[in-house]
Amino acid sequence: MRKIISVFLILVLASQMLWAKPKNPKKVVFLIGDGMGLTQITGAMAHYKGRNAFERFQVIGLSKTASSDNYVTDSGAGATVFSIGKKTYNGAIGVDSSKKESLGLFELLKERNWRTGVVATSSVTHATPAAFYAHVSSRRSEDEIAEFLKRRNCDLAIGGGMKFFLKRKDGRNLLTELNEMGFTVAADTNLVDIKAKKLIYLCADEGMKTMQEGRGDFLQKATKIAMNNLGSDKENYFLMVEGSQIDWGGHDNNFEYMKAELIDFNETINQVLDAAIKDGNTLVVVTADHETGGLSLLENKENKQTFISNYASKGHSGVMVPVFAYGPGAEAFAGIYENNQIFYKFKKLLRITK
Ligand SMILES: [Zn+2]
Repeated sequence: MRKIISVFLILVLASQMLWAKPKNPKKVVFLIGDGMGLTQITGAMAHYKGRNAFERFQVIGLSKTASSDNYVTDSGAGATVFSIGKKTYNGAIGVDSSKKESLGLFELLKERNWRTGVVATSSVTHATPAAFYAHVSSRRSEDEIAEFLKRRNCDLAIGGGMKFFLKRKDGRNLLTELNEMGFTVAADTNLVDIKAKKLIYLCADEGMKTMQEGRGDFLQKATKIAMNNLGSDKENYFLMVEGSQIDWGGHDNNFEYMKAELIDFNETINQVLDAAIKDGNTLVVVTADHETGGLSLLENKENKQTFISNYASKGHSGVMVPVFAYGPGAEAFAGIYENNQIFYKFKKLLRITK
């Protein structure tokens, strides 16, 4: 009898050890709300009748956003830090503070046969998506950034930016060149479902239309197409999705513009969370590169159930931004840390040893 009990105890202990082992995600969807601080989320969601995606997360952290040369970061340094793990100067794309090319998450994942992709409502060559696949000293070199897609570190890009592929200063047709390399390419304002292992789909000359101009469900559709294609052969993948124009509404000090973009981003997060819950192996992380506009929500004496949105600046601010995480490994994102730690958390969870 004693023997049976001890065997049973060993089995229980062994199974608990197995369960205690942290689960590593097979898929990652990293959603960046550009310029999305706590006041943007609070203000945009205040009277929203639909599902609040942010409230579906249990693990929440705060990220300190300063760049290497400025307490207030720009989007180049703010996204590069997620990609290469090093704080760098404002305007940098995938290069460190001495302008040296530094290996990014996509390159590190490619060595382990992960698939990678970016989706944005800006051009796919804009600072945030660019920082994941390109290495240039200035975010303004969008023609040059587009050429980095030829390095094959990024399997999929959906967003705007036709101009940087088709109306280039050097006269080249980069979409034809990418097509010859095996990419399925499309330049069409209408986004349709498409099956392709490698895909560049451009839907606007530069940035996409705003939500107020009728962009519709582009971001949800693009994200779905990206997840379906990147995960088509049960491969592991890392997808970055940017709600690019939350920032642009902030720069315009236009609360309604920002709000419409943030609600669109909220719906995209809901869709990704639904898929992640169903899948069980997907890590979802939502954050921002910085806050934009120094937005505050002030008392409205005329209508006390609402607030007055007040901007302190046309630029970015240095306040910490929230990080929301769900899925295997999510716990790693709790706490307060510098923005470059997000790279190291991914690196550890994705078992990148280099
Ligand atoms: Zn930004």
